[in-house]
Amino acid sequence: MSAALIDGVAQGEALRERVRDAVRGLSALGTTPGLAVVLVGDDPASRVYVRNKSARTVEAGMRSFDHRLPDDVSEAELLDVIRMLNADEAVDGILVQLPLPPQIDAAKVLLAIDPAKDVDGFHPVNAGRLATGQPALVPCTPLGCVILAKSVRPSLSGLEAVVVGRSNIVGKPVAQLLLAESCTVTVAHSRTRNLPEVCRRADLLVAAIGRPEMIPGDWIKPGAIVIDVGINRVPSPAGGEGRTRLVGDVNFAEAREVAGAITPVPGGVGPMTIACLLRNTVQAACARRGLPLAQALA
Ligand code: NDP
Repeated sequence: MSAALIDGVAQGEALRERVRDAVRGLSALGTTPGLAVVLVGDDPASRVYVRNKSARTVEAGMRSFDHRLPDDVSEAELLDVIRMLNADEAVDGILVQLPLPPQIDAAKVLLAIDPAKDVDGFHPVNAGRLATGQPALVPCTPLGCVILAKSVRPSLSGLEAVVVGRSNIVGKPVAQLLLAESCTVTVAHSRTRNLPEVCRRADLLVAAIGRPEMIPGDWIKPGAIVIDVGINRVPSPAGGEGRTRLVGDVNFAEAREVAGAITPVPGGVGPMTIACLLRNTVQAACARRGLPLAQALA
């Protein structure tokens, strides 16, 4: 039987609609949330991401502040911009587009962001709050993974969850969020022994590896929920030389025959990331003003 498709495009749109509603409510109270995005250099992929983020921010009724800095900006100058944004009352969220050029220590820059405005959720204060079950700004892609899993199974409580990947930006925070949902969580990585067997235990399998189609269908428990975070560009068999296509970390065609529900790539986790960024900006705006977060975004 073919698995149900978890539609990240539709889920992302629905979340952005809820964000728009919440922003309308805040604007009626005289508060319009603002998101500042800092882009260093001219990387074409980063430019596209930043353009999308700005467009979606405005579409959601929020204020968007773009700061573009040259590729040769010094670390001190970038830190000055962060300090200025930390102090700016109109700015509720600050996002520094990664990667940064080699003269800049990215960890130092992320540490300089006020944790109350850290809408990417990468600051150690927010990571610590998440790990200790306190209110936190949570990294966007992991949050999107959990929202997608809950779209097909509203209570994840008691499920065996396996997260393959232990990065600070995806694997670890996904694992923390699933623990908070009362899953029994295993975090697997490149040193895990018997990865196929570990994956076969999973009622909920999250793949955040960065290796094209590494997880075959026979690593998946029949009926499992599969969330594929991987975005890998590979040569396309059809369409001739130079053509490429995007695939996930899971072999979709095989997994679809076994899983109960699965996210496609593209169109799964990817579209949730910007929607969660907008959601986090509203959360930051409410928290900074002592206002409750709209129930629809909680
Ligand atoms: P990292 O490279 O930081 O981490 C990859 C993880 O996978 C590591 O923990 C690594 O283990 C593990 N790993 C690598 N090879 C194997 C293997 N053979 N067996 C088991 N585990 C392995 O990647 P990210 O977490 O940043 O990203 C993961 C994927 O998610 C990428 O494809 C990325 O493009 C995508 N992504 C998508 C986003 C979105 O949808 N918006 C956002 C962010 C990422 P170890 O720690 O032992 O090295």
